Amino acid sequence: MARPDAFDYVIVGAGSAGCVLANRLTEDPSASVLLLEAGGEDDADEIRIPAAFANLFKTKRDWNYETTEQKHLGKSAYWPRAKMLGGCSSMNAMIYIRGNRADYDAWRDRFGARGWGFDDVLPYFVRAEGNTRLGGPLHGTDGPLRVEDRVFTHELTHAWVDSAVAWGLKRTDDFNGESQEGAGLYQVTCKKGRRWSAADAYLRPALTRPNLTVRTNAHVTRVLLDGTRATGVSYVDSSGERTVHADAEVLLCGGAINSPQLLMLSGIGPAEHLREHGIEVANGLPGVGQNLHDHPASPIIWTTRGTTDVIDSATPLGLVRWQLTKRGPLTSNIGEAGGFYSTVDGLAAPNMQFHVAPTLFYDNGFREPTVSGFTSATTLVDVASRGRLRLRSANPFWRPELDPAYYAEPADFEATLSALRTLIEIGRSGPLARYLDKPFLPDTHELDDDALAEHARQNTQTLYHPVGTCAMGTGDLAVVDPELRVHGVTGLRVVDASIMPVVPRGNTNAPTIMVAEKAADLIRSR
Ligand SMILES: Cc1cc2nc3c(=O)[nH]c(=O)nc-3n(C[C@H](O)[C@H](O)[C@H](O)COP(=O)(O)OP(=O)(O)OC[C@H]3O[C@@H](n4cnc5c(N)ncnc54)[C@H](O)[C@@H]3O)c2cc1C
Repeated sequence: MARPDAFDYVIVGAGSAGCVLANRLTEDPSASVLLLEAGGEDDADEIRIPAAFANLFKTKRDWNYETTEQKHLGKSAYWPRAKMLGGCSSMNAMIYIRGNRADYDAWRDRFGARGWGFDDVLPYFVRAEGNTRLGGPLHGTDGPLRVEDRVFTHELTHAWVDSAVAWGLKRTDDFNGESQEGAGLYQVTCKKGRRWSAADAYLRPALTRPNLTVRTNAHVTRVLLDGTRATGVSYVDSSGERTVHADAEVLLCGGAINSPQLLMLSGIGPAEHLREHGIEVANGLPGVGQNLHDHPASPIIWTTRGTTDVIDSATPLGLVRWQLTKRGPLTSNIGEAGGFYSTVDGLAAPNMQFHVAPTLFYDNGFREPTVSGFTSATTLVDVASRGRLRLRSANPFWRPELDPAYYAEPADFEATLSALRTLIEIGRSGPLARYLDKPFLPDTHELDDDALAEHARQNTQTLYHPVGTCAMGTGDLAVVDPELRVHGVTGLRVVDASIMPVVPRGNTNAPTIMVAEKAADLIRSR
């Protein structure tokens, strides 16, 4: 007789990866799937309106994390992480970047992630992608993840790209083509001026399938184990604690912070550390929570003249225009353009990415705008520093301790300082200069090396790309194998950004979706 609450697959977390798995696994009508999400529905205007994403920060839709005090910054860093259907794909800046060929080849060659070199993963990027402009062998045009050129691009953004080209970067209209290098406008995961999250692309189309069950406001607290076999999960919802059985597999898709936390709460992790918190060790895996890293970003900001600020349109009239037409500045994803380049000669792939915004954007956008401005930011994408995640408590509702160790490796800081100087030079080159009034942050560009370093320390923030805490591979610190199965445990995989042994050069949503597309085939043994 069937048990009352049993499914073939139990997916924990309806984020970028979880939505993909929910869709792909229920393509097989004989497989029953339960998707559990700690947050609620993705039903707010701020989710749909591209320019409004930062309005979701520190709301009920945000896990609202904070790192430990960062030794090389002298401060902690706020880390938003979405808590709702779609996960961070419902809160992110929608930039569509895959990373560099070298990233995936390094997963394969340095970490033993067989089957994850660039040529292996390219078909999954292509399968996911519904690009409205780009085609050919490197792009998908009919995948569920809609990718389009923004319907609005500010004149400051065009001017920055022209200035970056005048400075010496090559112009590109495809950061996901043969070469990643150059400056250009970003493509976004939007559909006709509205965010297109993983919930839009993958979850909603599957909701009518009878073999998919979705439960929101269901916070998973533990993976249930029978010896070293995962048999289900415990979760807490408004009715209290519940358990559910997984006949085939439990699939953790909680993201780079919550998946390693959940493994540790379940007795899978560094044995000594688990014992410190009174957690019985089911499987000592020293790598769980290690290898935490992220892309640090640091701004150069000017006040502007003779132009507008994209935030000028955040008015009731602007909202009505967006609702009626899906056009105008509210369709801006704020980080409209950028580029990839190397701060030193001879690198095999770029170590730096730029993001630019036709407004003041610093301190995660929390500062009230007092003047019109233009922001450019360095983003270190080849990161040497490694930190770690640890439990603060065995209580599943406590936030874990997060230490990305920003700039612990001096080379990371040096590359950032060099790129900040490049951004100042780009501001002086070409058509952008005529719009820039005065330096705003820092308030002068006559900075010696010490002053520039102080600026970078005070103003570095996350670019929202933590990864690596359940790293895939075959070495001592690997947590999952190249089929994403947790080492030493059966019936349990991790499928999300935490499995990336090294963060790709670029924004991490498309890579996470690729990971889940490939995982679906591995799970279904295709
Ligand atoms: C502000 C911001 C801007 C970003 N901008 C970009 C961008 O422009 N382009 C880009 O490519 N990337 C961007 N990213 C990064 C990208 O969105 C993420 O890397 C990606 O979404 C991670 O996907 P994931 O599936 O690993 O985790 P998530 O999408 O975070 O999903 C995890 C889900 O699991 C749920 N969950 C966690 N724990 C539990 C639990 N115990 N029980 C039940 N449910 C649980 C969470 O609530 C969440 O819904 C941005 C991220 C943020 C936060």
